[in-house]
Amino acid sequence: MPELPEVETYARDLAEVLPGRRLHGARLAWPRQAPLNTPDELGARLRGQAVLTVSRRGKYLVLVLSHDWLIIHLKMSGRLYLAGPGIEADPHAHVVFRLDGGGELRFRDPRKFGRVYLVDDPRTVLGELGVEPLAPTFTAARLSAIVAGRRRRLKPLLLDQTLVAGLGNIYVDESLWLARLHPLRLAGSLDPFEVRRLHRSIRRVLRAAVRARGSSLSAGGYRDLTGNPGEMQGTLAVYGRAGDACPRCGSAVRRLIVGGRSTHVCPTCQPGG
Ligand SMILES: [Zn+2]
Repeated sequence: MPELPEVETYARDLAEVLPGRRLHGARLAWPRQAPLNTPDELGARLRGQAVLTVSRRGKYLVLVLSHDWLIIHLKMSGRLYLAGPGIEADPHAHVVFRLDGGGELRFRDPRKFGRVYLVDDPRTVLGELGVEPLAPTFTAARLSAIVAGRRRRLKPLLLDQTLVAGLGNIYVDESLWLARLHPLRLAGSLDPFEVRRLHRSIRRVLRAAVRARGSSLSAGGYRDLTGNPGEMQGTLAVYGRAGDACPRCGSAVRRLIVGGRSTHVCPTCQPGG
């Protein structure tokens, strides 16, 4: 699933090409993908609106338009790409935004889990999201307040988008490995040094992944706007590497299930749990 670095890559690439362009409508073949809008409303309301900015909040892509916010969540396997005029239709692009000049922004999502929202107040969709982990507001003190007194395990706590927004399975595992913390540790049991280490690790992992334009782990996995894979998968320490040697100590990486999610740890570097 695309996480913060992958969505950030889309946001940066789209911010190069979309601002200033006008939307001519939309085609919505699978109405459930726009839970707050009907297909007719979506198309009619978008028509004539210009794209002002493109950015990211958590795992959401946020397009500020002349009058509304267009918010997109790629969920499990959604991909976005631009198609020039005359490019043949894509049966898996159930949401298509028509642009001035005849081009299209296509949301390709064979599994149809992805969502689009056209709203006049972004808080309708984004209101519950927690702190942005790469923002200056995400300090060690802020993370300390988030974990303080919590009897939840670190992994599910860090996946909770209402606490920290944008982390998913890959980057939580990588951050916990870098911080030498077991995913089953109770969040409230971290001492101040461990909190600081976790804070630094989350930011370091996310920054590296943004620089590498995200992780593409499988053939059907994430691709950027132009169809290219990211480069972070080659440098992941534990995620998806069960049985491989831990890059820090050489122990075999183990895969466990935490809260229903596949989780990767080094049993030596991340004791306890
Ligand atoms: Zn290790």
